[in-house]
Amino acid sequence: MNIHEFQAKQILGRFGAPVPKGQPATTAAEMEAAFKALGQPKAVAKVQIHAGGRGKAGGVKLVASAAEARQFAERMLNKPLVTHQTGPQGRVVRKLYLEEASEVARELYLAMLVDRKAESLAVIASTEGGMDIEEVAAKTPEKIITEPIDLTAGMAAFQARKIAFALGLKDKQVNQFVGLLSAMYRAFNETDASLIEINPLVVTAAGAVLCLDAKMSFDDNGLFRHPDIRELRDPNEEDPTETEAAKYDLSYVHLDGNIGCMVNGAGLAMATMDIVKYYGAEPANFLDVGGGANTEKVAAAFRILLSDSRVKAVLINIFGGIMRCDVLAEGVVEAAKQVNLKVPLVVRMEGTNVEQGKKILKDSGLAVIAAADMADAARRVVEAIGKRG
Ligand code: GDP
Ligand code: MN
Repeated sequence: MNIHEFQAKQILGRFGAPVPKGQPATTAAEMEAAFKALGQPKAVAKVQIHAGGRGKAGGVKLVASAAEARQFAERMLNKPLVTHQTGPQGRVVRKLYLEEASEVARELYLAMLVDRKAESLAVIASTEGGMDIEEVAAKTPEKIITEPIDLTAGMAAFQARKIAFALGLKDKQVNQFVGLLSAMYRAFNETDASLIEINPLVVTAAGAVLCLDAKMSFDDNGLFRHPDIRELRDPNEEDPTETEAAKYDLSYVHLDGNIGCMVNGAGLAMATMDIVKYYGAEPANFLDVGGGANTEKVAAAFRILLSDSRVKAVLINIFGGIMRCDVLAEGVVEAAKQVNLKVPLVVRMEGTNVEQGKKILKDSGLAVIAAADMADAARRVVEAIGKRG
């Protein structure tokens, strides 16, 4: 789960990280009031969406009066902002943030993340802050510092100092940086975070280290331990189909293709996506209904698939082990009654109660294309969209 910049700054601030003072707003009037409350000649107005690249897209602006803060809000609110991370449709802006302006001398990059390969945490840092870090990593990999953190020993001060020197920090900045990393480390562990990214971390004209931007992601499997963080979930920022799928405990990831896939078991789901691609089409999603899915869950999964207007055909590939084929068939028939099925439906099933399942589908009157095996199913579903042009 991701949260907004201002929420990440509030959390990091609570752990003692240096962040600018600021206030969120959802209306132009609130933005104007926030400027007055800050009581400074200048402030930075920032759009809050779960995507970076706001600066280049006009979503970050220095404002010098309450009227300017209000105008920024009027220009931005309830309209999509397109950045290089949002895709062409952009993200509709519903929240803003106003914070004190900083005079920036240097922009650095700092992140803490789970390094799966090293089976530990890692700190990633670079002198090339404020830029797209993937680009820095691709073009000048020598400018990326990676420091693994041993989870038993914790974040050692000598490691923090080593990174500080590599970033060219001096004097008081070194201790400030050590303090920041220790705050980040505590925040990371205590909230079950999966990523904290500060881009840019700046050195101000006065020589202080300050987090000018912040991004935090959390491990969904740890959220049950953090009701306060779960509260920060912003449904406006999430894919509505993924939110709907989460309600039914379905593992669903929205993708860009046009073959809707419903499968039981993550391994079979991956294999199904592979074979669809092998036969020349693109899956519209990853969907694992799980081992013991009931009729209601199958029906929900089917509805979710069909709610995606890009889906031009559906492929159901089920191996009935714990899940019974007749239960699947009932779910599909049930869902097909609720939605008006307009796209070709290919079904391949095998396993427990397969004959009963096939009979339910046949008797339902649905135009089901029955497939003999996985390859046959993939071929048939690709053929089905081919015929439709
Ligand atoms: P992003 O583009 O979505 O990553 O948004 P950021 O929060 O990183 O802001 C983009 C850029 O705006 C930063 O890299 C800074 O260069 C600039 N910026 C943000 N706040 C301030 C500020 O208080 N003072 C100055 N001088 N620049 C700022
Ligand atoms: Mn940034």
